Amino acid sequence: MSNLFKVNNPATGEIIQEVKKHSAAEINQAIKNGHEYFKKWSKNNAHERSGLLRSWSKKITENKDEIARVMTLENGKPLKESLGEVDYAVSYIDWFAEEAKRLYGKTIPANTESKRIIVSRQPVGLVAAITPWNFPAAMMARKAAPALAAGCTFIIKPAAETPLTAIKFIELAHEAGIPEHAIQYVNGPGKEVGKLFTSSEYIRKITFTGSTPVGKTLIKNSADTIKHVSMELGGHAPLIVAEDADIDFAVQQTIGTKFRNAGQTCVCANRILVHENITDIFTEKFVSEVKKLKVGNGLEEGIDIGPIINAKGFDKIVSHIDDAVEKGAEILVGNEYDVDNEREIYFVHPTVLKNVYSDMAIMHEETFGPVAPIVSFKHIDDAVEIANSTPYGLAAYFFTNDYRTGSYLHDNLDFGIVGWNDGGPSAAHAPFGGMKESGLGREGGQEGIEPYLETKYMSIGNL
Ligand code: ADP
Repeated sequence: MSNLFKVNNPATGEIIQEVKKHSAAEINQAIKNGHEYFKKWSKNNAHERSGLLRSWSKKITENKDEIARVMTLENGKPLKESLGEVDYAVSYIDWFAEEAKRLYGKTIPANTESKRIIVSRQPVGLVAAITPWNFPAAMMARKAAPALAAGCTFIIKPAAETPLTAIKFIELAHEAGIPEHAIQYVNGPGKEVGKLFTSSEYIRKITFTGSTPVGKTLIKNSADTIKHVSMELGGHAPLIVAEDADIDFAVQQTIGTKFRNAGQTCVCANRILVHENITDIFTEKFVSEVKKLKVGNGLEEGIDIGPIINAKGFDKIVSHIDDAVEKGAEILVGNEYDVDNEREIYFVHPTVLKNVYSDMAIMHEETFGPVAPIVSFKHIDDAVEIANSTPYGLAAYFFTNDYRTGSYLHDNLDFGIVGWNDGGPSAAHAPFGGMKESGLGREGGQEGIEPYLETKYMSIGNL
């Protein structure tokens, strides 16, 4: 059996490159190497680690154009989005290069004069990451940078659809002087690599971005060795447009948050809830903007929406549209597809649905595609009820210029990330993560390094 697997361009069906698939023995060896090297890496002082992270981010920036091109080739997203993602990934490495120097401990007053209490922070050990195909650079940087900054060694299994960006990042890390066994990658089927990772006693933490069912499996399988886990899982973001909202601004932000990466993001607006008095005007303006979006090969100039990653993703999107239409939804634009099954090319034109109701699959499941269902609401508390009626709790957005409405929505939406008049709240300096079945832990901000640290407390006696 070949130990190579093919990476395809989802826009053309062409094979971009064949990549080595690692055997179980090779993966176990990489795990062992990462574990052994931890003793050395964790003893580097924080300023050295910080400097190496800064050199890494510099190398990535120097190679930005090439990385972005590779990302568009393997993922399909428009080149402008790939370029933006490289900058975004770099911003996490830069942020954690600084946080490396701020791993503060503390002293605690003891209850007797003969004792002193000291609390210090230490890296958890070897960290294993499993990442998805939708943000091949960003999802890796958000995990690798805090892990290395904290003094952990790091091993990643990137998604089989998009391993090339991660491989390039790791080559540049090594060129920047981060030692070979401090940051490594392995390739193989998710299920098998997942089992090797979760069963290894050398790996002390699993960090994962992907679907909720896989996240649940990883948590269960991590129980035997009591690993730390961070999980960035699915979402089903509501986007609420209140009666007083600035409609043009809300339309423009909704376009951004809905159609980025062809709607294949976990924070994409999945349910657009608009006050009944402005539904018609919002919908008219929104549809007119959607009609301007250009679908095609992300390497071409002026493309806004690239291909869907694979047949599985495409089938789900079509099933959501079909189910909604069968149950009475009206298509205002879209529901058009450019498909070549043989070459595995799947383009979905941006689609807007109205007359959408809660019995439709699109209102409960992540669509992961360029489909915008618009739902009318009467009272703001009805919007909150619809918004919260999901097991997910990742991102929510709302548009209002009324501070009371804004404050009420902030307090009552059960989501980890809330954008108030902001369709793009994600940033390296802020904690990204979900509530409920959307995950555990946060990435970015001060919080983003916490999951890679243990707390050690020492009591000194007999003073
Ligand atoms: P998606 O459907 O968006 O690809 P997945 O959760 O299936 O989301 O995949 C995200 C990442 O998880 C990928 O790297 C994939 O290879 C990996 N993966 C898939 N199934 C498993 C599994 N059972 N155990 C561990 N990792 C898995």
